[in-house]
Amino acid sequence: MILIDGKLTSQQIKEEIKSKVESMTSSGLRAPHLVAILVGNDGASETYVGNKIRTCAEVGFKSTLLRFDSGLTEEELIAEIHKLNDDEEVDGFIVQLPLPKHIDVHHITAAIDPAKDVDGFHPVNLGRMTEQLPAYIPATPKGIMQLLERYKIETAGRHCVVIGRSNIVGTPMSILLSRNAYPGNCTVTLTHSRTENLKEIARQADILVAAIGKPYFVTADMVKEGAVVIDVGMTRVPAPELKQGFKLAGDVDFKAVAARCSYITPVPGGVGPMTIIGLLQNTLLAAQHRIYPAHVRQ
Ligand code: NAP
Repeated sequence: MILIDGKLTSQQIKEEIKSKVESMTSSGLRAPHLVAILVGNDGASETYVGNKIRTCAEVGFKSTLLRFDSGLTEEELIAEIHKLNDDEEVDGFIVQLPLPKHIDVHHITAAIDPAKDVDGFHPVNLGRMTEQLPAYIPATPKGIMQLLERYKIETAGRHCVVIGRSNIVGTPMSILLSRNAYPGNCTVTLTHSRTENLKEIARQADILVAAIGKPYFVTADMVKEGAVVIDVGMTRVPAPELKQGFKLAGDVDFKAVAARCSYITPVPGGVGPMTIIGLLQNTLLAAQHRIYPAHVRQ
């Protein structure tokens, strides 16, 4: 069994990004600039946004965190988004999810200029990804694709089972793995909470991607001998023995499953660190106008 080390891979890619930023700035260009919008003070969101801002600094990006209290209205948030769409000093921005219930996430996503949508959630980017046109790919699936690539995992003709069909992980993952590319060319089965015989289907997977949010859901009897297992799950479970009182649990029963796998990602240290990498790469592409060249501003 080979452990897919997302932490190490993310460190290597960060160094690569950092050197690209250094060549940009030494040739007189400004550093890429990412803005994050945080509405309310959800604990996990604070942590995720804090990590994104800190990682920007590590690679030499400029970053700005815009905080608003949870009473912000949808109209006010859309007005902030329009300001960022028009701000030539901002290459890309994200609105940290989840949003308070009175704000419709679809309205917010649609208000973002696709050329600055570095989360890749805008329908234009999702459509372009499906058509295999240049697009911002959602950060988590983008990170997973790079793990498959860097570990030289064969994907063509393999049966991939994705568990979970969210717009940010499961669905884009299933599209990317079925595209005519490497990594890709898989035969993909996308499963969800209404899937019947999930255990039997999962057991047919050469590559199993679990993105459910249910700790230890994937047990050894759901995994084929020699499968590649990618664990996206990241749920806080109580851990009174630890200072912070919780730990992160994946969707896979790691100890039991690892013994059957050819490759597996751990939690933490697998997919998690690669998600921030996907966001940094999208922001770099935005600063270089690589996805939407027509948007080059004079
Ligand atoms: P989500 O929006 O809650 O979607 C969960 C998906 O799992 C849904 O499609 C749901 O099916 C499916 N599901 C739930 N129970 C199931 C069951 N018993 N059998 C089969 N499918 C089931 O979650 P998400 O945003 O995709 O996130 C999933 C997990 O990944 C979470 O733990 C999250 O924290 C983690 N995550 C990690 C990263 C990272 O950087 N590592 C990034 C993003 C998310 P229905 O559609 O039928 O409801």
